[in-house]
Amino acid sequence: MVNFVLDEMQEMLKELAHEFARDEIRPYAEHWDLNSEYPKDAILAAHEMGLLNLHIPEKYGGAGLGCMEEVLVNEELAWGDPGFATAAYATALASAPIITGATESQKEKWLGKIANEGALASYAVTEPEAGSDVAAIKTSAIRDGDDYIINGNKMWITGAGYADFFFVLAKTDPDAGYRGMSGFIVEREADGVSLGKKETNMGQRCSDTRAINFEDVRVPADQLVGESESGGWMNAMMAFDLSRPNIAAHATGLSRAAYEHALQYSNERHSFGKPLHRHQAVQFMLADMKTKIEASRLLTWKAASLCDSGLKNTEAAAHAKRFSADTAMEVTTDAVQVYGGYGYSEEYPVARLMRGAKVMQIYEGSSQVQKMIIGREITKDL
Ligand SMILES: Cc1cc2nc3c(=O)[nH]c(=O)nc-3n(C[C@H](O)[C@H](O)[C@H](O)COP(=O)(O)OP(=O)(O)OC[C@H]3O[C@@H](n4cnc5c(N)ncnc54)[C@H](O)[C@@H]3O)c2cc1C
Repeated sequence: MVNFVLDEMQEMLKELAHEFARDEIRPYAEHWDLNSEYPKDAILAAHEMGLLNLHIPEKYGGAGLGCMEEVLVNEELAWGDPGFATAAYATALASAPIITGATESQKEKWLGKIANEGALASYAVTEPEAGSDVAAIKTSAIRDGDDYIINGNKMWITGAGYADFFFVLAKTDPDAGYRGMSGFIVEREADGVSLGKKETNMGQRCSDTRAINFEDVRVPADQLVGESESGGWMNAMMAFDLSRPNIAAHATGLSRAAYEHALQYSNERHSFGKPLHRHQAVQFMLADMKTKIEASRLLTWKAASLCDSGLKNTEAAAHAKRFSADTAMEVTTDAVQVYGGYGYSEEYPVARLMRGAKVMQIYEGSSQVQKMIIGREITKDL
């Protein structure tokens, strides 16, 4: 049965996340962004309230909730501020390949650290010369007795400056292409790990993004994620089936925030003797925003629901991520348009939201990469 009505627990969780976003995120969002301040206390508070990492199974200390519950919460957190939502989600993204591919004892240890101790983690895959083309990564992990020695550079890693550990994708067999990749858990404090400076990004500036350098970093072999080498690529990619519905939810929450601001402003501002929204051109802009937000949410819920049903959601997640990211860019641009000159000023929230929307079309697989995934899925049986 398809049901668009949330159950009581889901409604309560959504309300809890909304109240947190209203009281603990929104009042500080402008300050965090303009000062590039990482919202560590608010992230820890969200963790304490049970709003983060909902998908970690109960046996490892998590809430054991589904992707559906997670997208409900993530829409609200991004409605509060997209930079906060990205910063807070970094750990969940890093935990996804552990959930899908780690051994039981690895899950107990690393998921337990996140769920029970509030540890933060980052997903470190992208490199200076390999973003969309993940198979082109150069970071190597060479077996040496009971350890691996990791060398290489990662780039654009969200939360790296605050993470306790990283999920790192490296090549254990450089000649085997994507089949020669393995995932590792590397602790921030390991010798040979160094961080770049915090990047000055266009938007979502409270989120910490940095390069990580690994120089002869010795990692115990039991921190190779999974039973054996070579599962890294599959693991790192499967993580996206879990994470992309959540990124889509972030984009939906961000769009909704921009739309609500624009709607309210269109009622306050008058031109030619009437509120802006009485002009059909403005009203149609608002109508288009609302339709696209509704569609974003439905695609997101479908991708999350398939995930919870144990069904393959790769194509659905790509539709949701691409459509809601593109929608966020369109909606925030139109919200600035509704505000006119005031929209161009940082005095009003829509400029920050528009700056924050752009990266949604770039990270977690760009909109072009999502089209490649959709194209591959729809033509594979031809
Ligand atoms: C703020 C921020 C946070 C990030 N956080 C993380 C993180 O936590 N962990 C992590 O591992 N990475 C992270 N990334 C990296 C992000 O995933 C990459 O930037 C993204 O995958 C794109 O890679 P790229 O920047 O190398 O661009 P490129 O791959 O060089 O692509 C450049 C452009 O070309 C297009 N393009 C590339 N190949 C094709 C193709 N075959 N067909 C059509 N178009 C194509 C792309 O869509 C893009 O528009 C983050 C990036 C940013 C900006």
